[in-house]
Amino acid sequence: MSFDQLASELQVRKAASLYRGRKVLQSPQQPEVVVDGKAYLAFCSNDYLGLANHPAIVSAFKQAADEYGVGGGASSLVSGHSFHHHALEEELAAFTGRPRALLFSNGYMANLGTVNALLGKQDAVFQDRLNHASLLDAGLLSGARFQRYLHNDVDSLTQRLSKTQARRSLVVTDGVFSMDGDIADLPAICDVANHHKAWVMVDDAHGIGCLGKTGAGCAEHFGLSEQQLPILMGTLGKAFGTSGAFVAGSDVLIETLIQHARTYIYTTSMPPAVAAATRVSLKLVQTEQWRREQLTSLIQRFRRGCEQLGLSLMDSPTPIQPIMIGNADKAMAMSAALRDKGLFITAIRPPTVPHGSARLRVTLSASHTEVQVDRLLDALDQVK
Ligand code: PMP
Repeated sequence: MSFDQLASELQVRKAASLYRGRKVLQSPQQPEVVVDGKAYLAFCSNDYLGLANHPAIVSAFKQAADEYGVGGGASSLVSGHSFHHHALEEELAAFTGRPRALLFSNGYMANLGTVNALLGKQDAVFQDRLNHASLLDAGLLSGARFQRYLHNDVDSLTQRLSKTQARRSLVVTDGVFSMDGDIADLPAICDVANHHKAWVMVDDAHGIGCLGKTGAGCAEHFGLSEQQLPILMGTLGKAFGTSGAFVAGSDVLIETLIQHARTYIYTTSMPPAVAAATRVSLKLVQTEQWRREQLTSLIQRFRRGCEQLGLSLMDSPTPIQPIMIGNADKAMAMSAALRDKGLFITAIRPPTVPHGSARLRVTLSASHTEVQVDRLLDALDQVK
């Protein structure tokens, strides 16, 4: 059987400016990067606190690699659960104010494993329309009755919850929406879910580290306890600057995941050196409050500047600051024009975002300076 049909499908995608490609990064993460041999100022990484290349984290990684080797070696339930994994889980539980935490190799797996450990065919899952692909996939895979509610709309969620006859109900939402940057209305979502005896699971990939006084994310930002928000998922590859993910919650939740989460059981544990590096990163997240303050001040500066330029932004108080363009061709052309000016900002197009809502996804980091943000604004003024 030939690949001709696939090749013509790829051509259709190309013709519609929806073809996805990769670029080769030849440097650490932002702000200054080398891509395909050329230097750029980048505004597209998820390294929100500027920790991905922090010397203390790199040094902890090297030391643990010397002591424990490079790979996890086995799944966590066989012999892959090292001292550093165990210590990091305890530290993440304390950080989030939850009884226990469990490490996964990445956020995609944490979401697939958790939803599927909790739900089956007799159950129902309620998802925000703009949830991350890994949550949507997790819900579909579980076989539970799959219902989407309007974006961040508690009335729409309530309508659906009040009609369900399911054995178990799970409401799932991003804490900070990955493509729009807005924060879920969690106090209201948790209230209505608790009223209908449904669990709530929040994917705080983009909130953990950035929101809350100590960086413990949207739960801390809104002051939501484990009773109100029982299933908290966070990733380590963004603000923490390392890699991996965790789920935090009650002892029963974590024991259930250890017994049933297939993406936990049937995969090699994250490299122990990543866990060791993340332990240092976690300390910096908690103690270096100035990183969140710097980020907030840059976000405000960027938003003020865009407003003056008449650019269309979303209602986002977070480091995710999409500039709405609409047309995919135009978004691609603007991204290319910015690259010509030495700025690296990616265009996000359907199907990652809804049709007609292509955008330049600008992300800010505590490692950016005011001068760099002004340079971005200046370039945007020239290419808009
Ligand atoms: N959830 C959200 C909201 C995300 O944005 C991402 C990553 N883009 C993930 C989950 C997946 O996390 P990971 O990259 O660790 O697989």
